[in-house]
Order: sequence, then structure tokens, then C-alpha cells
Amino acid sequence: MIKLVDILLEADSRTPRKKGQRKKSGKHSDLFTDEDPKGTIHGLGFKNATAARKGITLVNKAKRKHAHKVQATLVMKQRAKVAISRTKDPEKKKDLQAAFKIWSAHLEKLKKKTKKMNESLLVEVSKRDMQYIVNKVYPHIVKDLGGRAVKVEIHNNIYRRLGAVGEEDLMKDNNPYGEYDWDRKVIYLYASAISNVEQIIRSLLHEHTHTLQNRKKFQAGYDSGKYDYKTHPFEKAATKAEMKWKNYLKYL
Ligand SMILES: [Zn+2]
Repeated sequence: MIKLVDILLEADSRTPRKKGQRKKSGKHSDLFTDEDPKGTIHGLGFKNATAARKGITLVNKAKRKHAHKVQATLVMKQRAKVAISRTKDPEKKKDLQAAFKIWSAHLEKLKKKTKKMNESLLVEVSKRDMQYIVNKVYPHIVKDLGGRAVKVEIHNNIYRRLGAVGEEDLMKDNNPYGEYDWDRKVIYLYASAISNVEQIIRSLLHEHTHTLQNRKKFQAGYDSGKYDYKTHPFEKAATKAEMKWKNYLKYL
């Protein structure tokens, strides 16, 4: 299984450090200084085509995350560009331009790979995948949000679970990702609605938040007519909890 966290750590641009901004503040990166020597891929160059090709071989071989390779390649491309603008000697300029072209091409290649990796996040997950993701992620959600782990059941859809007639028609109007059953104390996830990892994690965060809420107040909010789904404070809390979904990718 692909390490999803690598994809999300994707960094596509570097921002120069502003005056007074601390090193490693995370908001900047210097083009010509190596701030993090431990992570640096050594031997990368841009003085000519040969140096660039050698550098690319090193980047490809390096045991670094994809994001790191993108970063290193981008820096080489940018350094070559700056060097071109600073060089007067036409021979040297030509060599630098050749290196720039090679590094640029490599960056494009890596970007294509990034795109593919990102798309894999949206790849449809099977019921078995869903169970795997639930097993990996749910314990951490419980730890972070508090409360106790409840049973998580994966069903095809809500109407089949209820044995409703006219399943398909009903689904056109409402095909929820998940729900919490207060009576049984079970979270249901619906495979026909959920199609990717993000939706599974968000659903778990959402429904687990409901397990922490007071059932009577939850129901009263709706019964009073004061709130609907969008305005109910308990729903808002559950939706807010979903925002942290990316934090759980590292457990996959
Ligand atoms: Zn809800």
C-alpha cells in the first residue's frame, strides 16, 4: 500500500526567507544555502549538461521521499536560472542553459508522477480497503477526540441495511456516507456513497463526534424546529472535526 503521507508532504515551491525570519521556520527556504544538511542529496550540479545528468541520476537513486526529490530538482532548476542571469561568459552561459533545460525536464517528469500519486488518493476503495483503513485510523481518532471506540460496520447503503423497498430511488435523494446509531452504539459507513480515503476518515471523525454528544439534546435540537442539518450546533461540531482528516493519513 502506498504511503499516503508522502503525497501530502508534497512541496512544489520554495519561498525565500524574509529578513528577520528564523531559519527552519517552515515558511521559507534559502536557495543557495543548505539548511538541513542531513536531508541534502549530495553531488547535484548545474554547471553543464553532464553535471545535470549526473545529478538527476543521484536524485533518482536517493532514498528520499518523492516530495524531497521534487524539492531538490526544483532548487537545481532555480539555481541554474539565477546563474544564467549572472554569467557574462557566453560559453558558460550556454552550458548553464543546457543544465537548466535538463533539470526543468526532470522537474516536469516528477510533477507528472506527483499528479499520479495524488490521483491515487481518489481511487475508489473496496469494502475490504475500507475495513483496513477503519482499523488503522479509528483507534487514533478515539485517542484524539476522546470517548470510547464504538463498533464500526460497513454496509452497502443505508436502505439495504434497513431493508427498505425502492432502494435505488431512495439513494438518488439521499445516500449518506455514514451515520451513528444511538441505540446500538454503532457507526455505520456506507460503501456505495464512500469512494475514497478522505471520505472514510471524514466520516469516522464526524460520526465519532456524535458518539460524544448528548443524544437527548441532539434530538431536541431537531424536534424544536430550531435547527436543521446545516445549522444544528452538534452537526457543526461534527463537521468541524472532519477538517482534521489529513492528520490521520500517516497511519495508513
Ligand atoms: Zn452528523
